[in-house]
Amino acid sequence: MRPFAVSVADIHHRPGARRRERLEAGLPGLQVLDTAVPDQATVEVEVLLEAVSDGILATGSARAPWRSECRRCLRAVEGDAEVTFRELFEEHPTEGETWPLQHEEVDLEPLVRESLLLALPLAPLCDDACRGLCPTCGADLNEGPCDCVPDDRDPRWAALDVLRSEQES
Ligand SMILES: [Zn+2]
Ligand SMILES: [Zn+2]
Repeated sequence: MRPFAVSVADIHHRPGARRRERLEAGLPGLQVLDTAVPDQATVEVEVLLEAVSDGILATGSARAPWRSECRRCLRAVEGDAEVTFRELFEEHPTEGETWPLQHEEVDLEPLVRESLLLALPLAPLCDDACRGLCPTCGADLNEGPCDCVPDDRDPRWAALDVLRSEQES
C-alpha cells in the first residue's frame, strides 16, 4: 500500500499541464521524542501537480494531528502539525534535492513524512503559564500550592554558590 503515490501519466511531458489531488491516509511511525502522530490518525495532503520541463513540480500542504505530554506537568497535550512544500520530482533525481519520478508516478509519502517530522513540537507545553510539578512531592502546581516547605535559599544565591565553588576549585 502506497497511499500517497499518484499517477502523473496524464500530465508528464506536457509542460504547463496540472492537476490537483487531495489524499488522506494513515502514516504510522511519525514520532519524535514523546510527540507522535497516532497510528490510526488521518494525514491529509493537498497538492497541485504541475508538469515542468524537468519533471513534475508538487506544491501543497500536509496536516496531521499530534499528541504529546506537557514538558512541565506531563499532562496530555495535542495539536495539529501543518506544513507546506514545493518540491520537484524527476526521472533522474539529485540526491537530497529532488525526488524520484518512476513509472509515471510520484510518491509523496517520503516528502510528507520528512516535512511532518520536522514540524512536530519536541517539548510542548499545555499552556505557556504552566506551573509544572513540585520537584519535592510531585504535586501538580497548576491545581494550587502543595504543602512542601518552600526552599528558603534564594535561587540567585545558589547560582552564586556554584560560581564561588568553581573559583575555589
Ligand atoms: Zn503543563
Ligand atoms: Zn510539593
